[in-house]
Amino acid sequence: MSKYVIVGASAAGIGAVEAIREVDPIGTITVISEEPCPQYSRPMISDLVSGKANFEKMMCREDQFWQKNEVQALTGRTAVSLNLADKYVALDKGDHVNFEKLLIATGGKPFVPKIEGADKDGVFTFTTLSDAEHLLAKVENATSAVVIGGGLIGVSVTEALVKRGLKVTMVELKDTILSLILDPTASEMVENVIRKAGVTIVTGQSVQRVTGKPEDDRAVGGAVLTNGDQVQCDLVIIAIGVIPRMELVSGTDVKTNRGVLVDSFMQTNVSDVYASGDVAEAYDFVFGENRLLPLWPLAQLEGKVAGYNMAGKKADYPGGTAMSALKYFGIPIISIGIANPKEDDAYEILTKHDPERNLYKKIVLKDNVIVGITLANDIEQAGVLFHLMKNGANVKKFKQELLSEDFCLATVPRSLRKKVYPGEYK
Ligand SMILES: Cc1cc2nc3c(=O)[nH]c(=O)nc-3n(C[C@H](O)[C@H](O)[C@H](O)COP(=O)(O)OP(=O)(O)OC[C@H]3O[C@@H](n4cnc5c(N)ncnc54)[C@H](O)[C@@H]3O)c2cc1C
Repeated sequence: MSKYVIVGASAAGIGAVEAIREVDPIGTITVISEEPCPQYSRPMISDLVSGKANFEKMMCREDQFWQKNEVQALTGRTAVSLNLADKYVALDKGDHVNFEKLLIATGGKPFVPKIEGADKDGVFTFTTLSDAEHLLAKVENATSAVVIGGGLIGVSVTEALVKRGLKVTMVELKDTILSLILDPTASEMVENVIRKAGVTIVTGQSVQRVTGKPEDDRAVGGAVLTNGDQVQCDLVIIAIGVIPRMELVSGTDVKTNRGVLVDSFMQTNVSDVYASGDVAEAYDFVFGENRLLPLWPLAQLEGKVAGYNMAGKKADYPGGTAMSALKYFGIPIISIGIANPKEDDAYEILTKHDPERNLYKKIVLKDNVIVGITLANDIEQAGVLFHLMKNGANVKKFKQELLSEDFCLATVPRSLRKKVYPGEYK
């Protein structure tokens, strides 16, 4: 019996362990992790491929993290099922661990569509350290790659492969890349710098078939797009997206939608069972509802909130929203909240575009409250804008100044500054 059992030991699992130990220094904790060394920064796996980081640099907690926190770390082990009535987690070797409080922090898994030839040697997904290591091992003998998907993961792996000297073709089904976080103008700016780096971007297409090499059909030799075009390549990386890993809870009483449903304490509908991170639908303060937000800092915070509550300290999840800070191919971009609202009278959109300086700013307002921020190539004001947004500040009186180059905290009326930065302005 372990007082606390946590399945998954990445951002959310780590956040939970730290919170539990703040409150309960002695309660037994067991962590179950399929990955042998789970305490690494997942967002950095592309840095391993590009050569920017090594294994040590990627570690987000020291080697001794589990021992120091007196955690029984069952690494390289898979939780295969849950028995919620008898409160235990069954493991891959037929053993099981009983729990008083359980956290599901199983994260996400890559979405892999059916593609003929996807079992060939040289086809990869890209979400784990092991994926990155396997890809890295192949990169040395490769000259070209096709990356399927022009989202955050697709662009980051593309950049890594370009840095390794590969000729990359990025294939994106939508009309623009990064369409979940950027509008067409900002997306075009990124596309331009990526193209300048030698990448071929094909939009409105996907890959229907992976073909073999003439001398060895088991090895990747090319990709056939949905329009029939053929691209020669040695590697294919499937980077279409990540979906919540819910196999452990499916068929149990735990309620799910696209992810596991939780309340503001990160507790599921089943008492003593919590969920956090990419597997859970947590509160988005922009949309005013729970949704999937697969982001590292949010996963860690959600895990922390779950950990506090599991250990008996009431904590509310304050909410998060979509937030990306990118610097692909040298162009800094910040995108927060709603980047690309549908044509709707409810939204007011302020933009400033200076193509000569490659500069773009966009603020989306709803009822004079900021609900979306995009800043490209000039991200200095992101902090103030985000605080206004997070606090739901009414910006009616100074909204025309939001995009000015001089906009800063001093532009914000003093009464509002107190609300936005309560600690600093008495
Ligand atoms: C390439 C890439 C780049 C990214 N870049 C960014 C970025 O720049 N910024 C950002 O904020 N976010 C980024 N993310 C997203 C971020 O990594 C995730 O939001 C975060 O890792 C989620 O943490 P988590 O703990 O919920 O789940 P995960 O990190 O997915 O970890 C879940 C863990 O649980 C284990 N597990 C699952 N099921 C079981 C089971 N049944 N038994 C045992 N173990 C199990 C998994 O093996 C895994 O180790 C990126 C993700 C990827 C893949």
